[in-house]
Amino acid sequence: MTMADSTSPSSTRLQTTSSRPNNSSPAEARGDWSPTKSARLYQVQGWGSPYFSVGENGHVLVSPSAEDDRSIDLYDLTQDLRVRGLDLPILIRFSDILADRIKNINECFSRAIREYEYAGAYRGVYPVKVNQQRHIVNEVVEFGKPWQFGLEAGSKPELLIALSAMREAGGLIICNGYKDPSYIETALIAQRFDKTVIVVLERIEELDYTLKASEKLGIKPMLGVRAKLSSKGMGRWGNSAGDRAKFGLSVPEVIQVVDRLAERNMLDSLQLLHFHIGSQISSIIPIKSALQEASNIYVELARLGCKMGYLDVGGGLAIDYDGSQTDFHASRNYTLQEYASDVVATIQAACEKAEIGVPTIVSESGRAVVAHQSVLVFDVVGVNRISVEDPGPPQGDHGVLHVLHETYQGILPKNVQESWHDACTAKEEAQSLFKYGYLGLRERAEAERLFWACCKKIERTLSRLKFVPEELHDLVKQTSAIYYCNFSVFQSAPDTWAIDQLFPIMPIHRLDEQPTVRATLADLTCDSDGIIDHFIDVEDVQDTLGVHEFREGEPYYLGMFLNGAYQEILGDLHNLFGDTNAVHVSLTDYGYRVEHVIKGDSMTEVLRYVAYSPEDMIDAVRSQAEEALARGKLSLEQMRVLMKHYEDAMNSYTYLSE
Ligand SMILES: *Cc1c(COP(=O)(O)O)cnc(C)c1O
Repeated sequence: MTMADSTSPSSTRLQTTSSRPNNSSPAEARGDWSPTKSARLYQVQGWGSPYFSVGENGHVLVSPSAEDDRSIDLYDLTQDLRVRGLDLPILIRFSDILADRIKNINECFSRAIREYEYAGAYRGVYPVKVNQQRHIVNEVVEFGKPWQFGLEAGSKPELLIALSAMREAGGLIICNGYKDPSYIETALIAQRFDKTVIVVLERIEELDYTLKASEKLGIKPMLGVRAKLSSKGMGRWGNSAGDRAKFGLSVPEVIQVVDRLAERNMLDSLQLLHFHIGSQISSIIPIKSALQEASNIYVELARLGCKMGYLDVGGGLAIDYDGSQTDFHASRNYTLQEYASDVVATIQAACEKAEIGVPTIVSESGRAVVAHQSVLVFDVVGVNRISVEDPGPPQGDHGVLHVLHETYQGILPKNVQESWHDACTAKEEAQSLFKYGYLGLRERAEAERLFWACCKKIERTLSRLKFVPEELHDLVKQTSAIYYCNFSVFQSAPDTWAIDQLFPIMPIHRLDEQPTVRATLADLTCDSDGIIDHFIDVEDVQDTLGVHEFREGEPYYLGMFLNGAYQEILGDLHNLFGDTNAVHVSLTDYGYRVEHVIKGDSMTEVLRYVAYSPEDMIDAVRSQAEEALARGKLSLEQMRVLMKHYEDAMNSYTYLSE
């Protein structure tokens, strides 16, 4: 390994500060560690408050809301679920957290409306695409009742969900996404139900479909238009707005809609203006700018004679995944209350100035509603670590071994950089000597052992320094452990792989003990991308996570938090690891209750998904075994064991079990 090889592009990109505080300090005495220190180390307050905290016993505690002091011990809950026969990984959904998020969003808007004496109302909708799981959508409708919280559909299948799930009289359904004539006819007919169904035109063709459907069915449509704003979002979803956005009508197209509706005397059909500038908008600035532009379009549409009445500000409300309260992509530099107040105030100002009535405000926050309620708990199944013992004198005579040994002995705080450089040079030399036949395999092994011993000693020396020199950041990563974990990144946290998203990850127990190991996490897939090596940090992104020494034979559980939005549905069957077990848990006065258990996929289910017939597969293996038995290459007992494993596996969970 050369210094150049060892610097992966992603780790360089993420290291935005030139030097960072050193918190890999295994030297610190274990005695003065405390659960409070763990809470600080993992930033629990920042991303988790008020739902997650660290208890006196060193376990993560889950609380339903800020006002409620009941809590569930996440470690105990995990143990109880295992006793019930549910294997890890397991996705735990806390219904009370979902209820609190919905309450929170609605109360923030109510507060803003009171404060600004806004003459209109707020009606939030939940965008089904963020997590379509039936139990979640049903809970959203249930918990949203006091505020008539509605649903947003972004596709035809989601419209089917919204129409069946929203049974509330007066319930609001916003229909977005690509639409064909049957989507539009369905939505128009549903407008005759006792609820408000608004069809939002996203492409100009949809106007023709709608006019035809309206004529055919004799139903006057209730319409909205999605405007392409010139104010762009920023970051990853910056292109959801602007002239090249995939969705929405340009201003000339909006005018075309108005003119064509006017020709038919249907201006009263156009009642809603919608925009969406992307997801996880971490800065309030683009949000305000989009609001201002949209408010003015709204005002103009009203002036052109459209009925109007609703302004739908889309999604984008961000989550503070790293707890830093900044405009970093994993965070946000505004609070939910500030967001609500800005929405209300901006719309009000534009309407007041134009002297038109204010609209009902609709927002489509998905991430902000469902991210907090899900926690994925998974266990560590093995560890790969460089051993740290003193290497002793070199086992072999070659000069390069002596150089490495001397380098090892000479490592001091004042020369760490030089020692690291010497060790790398000697190791490279050993590799090239081997390549040309001047070094045996045992000597090469010895060179590598000495090199790793140097790395470890340098790392230990670094932990006594206040700052790690930039050049040595990579060494810390190189010498970190790999913790093999029982889950699939592709199934349970696809965004960590696809878009480098950060989720808070931490042990859910042993938090009264100092985590003395720096590790990256590897999943069960055989894909080298199936790793997590970016972790939240207030000032930077860390490429290793502080974890505890793994004790063989003792479970070690990690939790991945805030992953209720997008991850479940974007997850895939890479290596045929299927859906994980999931449970809904709610708090009661005497503890908790498991409301729903949704068993994860069995092998049979994932195999059928890729068109195999498990029965035929069992047959095919059995006939080969019979053949081998007939030829005397297999005993009956061996055949019995094989068939038992093969058939049992078919019905079992796709993840590792004990
Ligand atoms: C995805 C999407 C949302 C949800 O966005 P969040 O950032 O998760 O709140 C809302 N509206 C539309 C049109 C969307 O496409």
